[in-house]
Amino acid sequence: MERGIFEEEHEIFRDSVIRFGETELMPHVAAWREAGIVDREAFRKAGEHGLCLMWADERYGGMGVGDFRFEQIVIEELIHHGDPGFGLTLHSRLVGPYIGMLGNDEQKARFLPGCVSGETILGIAMSEPGAGSDVAGIRTRAEDRGDHYVLNGSKTYISNGINGDLFVVAARTVPDNPHGVGLFLVERGMEGFTRGRNLKKLGLKAQDTAELFFDNVRVPKENVLGDPHKGFYYLMQFLAEERLIVACGCVAAAEAAFRTTLDYVRERHAFGRPIAHFQNTRFKLADMRTRIDVAQTFVDRCVMDHNAGRLTPEVAAEAKVFCSELEGYVTDEGLQLHGGAGFMDEYPISRMYANARVSRIYAGSSEIMREIIARGLGLDPRAQAAPRTELKRA
Ligand SMILES: Cc1cc2nc3c(=O)[nH]c(=O)nc-3n(C[C@H](O)[C@H](O)[C@H](O)COP(=O)(O)OP(=O)(O)OC[C@H]3O[C@@H](n4cnc5c(N)ncnc54)[C@H](O)[C@@H]3O)c2cc1C
Repeated sequence: MERGIFEEEHEIFRDSVIRFGETELMPHVAAWREAGIVDREAFRKAGEHGLCLMWADERYGGMGVGDFRFEQIVIEELIHHGDPGFGLTLHSRLVGPYIGMLGNDEQKARFLPGCVSGETILGIAMSEPGAGSDVAGIRTRAEDRGDHYVLNGSKTYISNGINGDLFVVAARTVPDNPHGVGLFLVERGMEGFTRGRNLKKLGLKAQDTAELFFDNVRVPKENVLGDPHKGFYYLMQFLAEERLIVACGCVAAAEAAFRTTLDYVRERHAFGRPIAHFQNTRFKLADMRTRIDVAQTFVDRCVMDHNAGRLTPEVAAEAKVFCSELEGYVTDEGLQLHGGAGFMDEYPISRMYANARVSRIYAGSSEIMREIIARGLGLDPRAQAAPRTELKRA
C-alpha cells in the first residue's frame, strides 16, 4: 500500500540515508555482529552525515529538524540497510532529547555538540537487576552532598553500555517516595563508575548491552537534569516517544521479514513447483501483507499526530504493542516458510526472528503496554495519574 505521509524532501532524504547505510554500515555489520559491538566510528560517520540528533538547534551543530518523519526514515532505513543493533536512534532520539528538553543552557552547550558529531555516545540507564517494568522500584540512590550528589547502585541491560560516553541515570533522591527520582548525567571516566561485561544475547548481536556500576560516584550538581525530584515524571513523558520509535522499527522489521520471505518462496521449489504456489504460502503472505499495511497506516498516523503534539501515551502504547507483536508474527511465519533454511544463520530471516523477540519486552513489555491502554479506559485500580509538565526541546 502506498504511504501518504512523505513529501519530496523526505524521499530525497531517504535516498541519502539508504546510500549512507549501503556505504558506511552494510560492509561492516557482519563484523559488528561477530564482535558484539558496533565500531564507534559508525556514530562519527552518522554525525558527519547529519544523522545524529537532527532535532538539535543549529547553535549546537544540529539541523533543528522537528519533523519526526525524518527520524522515522532513519529508523526504517537502518533496518533495511544497516542493522537494528546499531544504537543510533537510541543515541539521537531516545536519550539526546533528555538533554535537549531538560538540560539548561550550560548543559546543552557542554554536551550537545559532541552528541551531534557522534563523538559522545549516549545511553540511558533506568533498568536495574530488581526493577525493570516497575520503574518506581529503582534502588540506585543519589545522596545530596551540597554541591554534588553521590551515586550508589547498579543498572542492567543498558544499550550502548560499552560504547557509551554519557548516560542519563535514574537514581532515587527521596528514599521514602517511590516517585522521588532524579536524572543524572554520568560521564565516562567519573571515579567509581564502571561497567560489566558485554552481555551475550539471543538477538541484536551487534548491540553492546551491559551492566553499569556506581560506587560512590561524585556527580556535580551541574550534571543534574531538571528538578532532581521529578525524574520519574520526566521518564514517563519521554516514554511515549520511545514507544513510537520502537513501533516504527517493528513495522520496518516486519516489512523486511516479509520481503525476504517473498523472495525465498518464489525461488524455493518443492513437489515440482515454487513453494509460493501452495495455497498455504499464498494465504500466509496475503495475511502478512495485510497486517503490515494496516500497522504501517496506523504508525504513520501516530507519527503525524506526534508531529502535531497530539500523540497520547495510550495510543503510543497501542502502536508499540501491536507492531511488536506483528513483528513477532511475521518473523515467525516467515521463518516457517523458509523451512530448515530459516533456522540457519546465513539466512537473514533467522536473525530477524531472534531480533524480534526483544521488541515485546524492552521499552515497556506488551503487558505493561496493555496496562497503560487499560488505564486509559478508566480501568486503573490505583486511580492515580502522574502530573504533566510541559517540556521544550533545545
Ligand atoms: C536488549 C535489551 C536492551 C535494553 N536496553 C535498555 C536500556 O538501554 N536502558 C534501560 O534502562 N533498560 C534497558 N532494557 C531493559 C528493559 O527495558 C527491561 O528488560 C524491560 O522493561 C522489562 O523489565 P524486566 O526485564 O525487569 O522484566 P520484569 O519487569 O521483571 O518483567 C517480567 C515479566 O513480568 C511481566 N510484568 C511485570 N509487571 C507486570 C504488570 N504490572 N502486569 C503484568 N505483567 C507484568 C512483564 O511483562 C514480563 O513479562 C533493555 C533490555 C533488553 C533485553
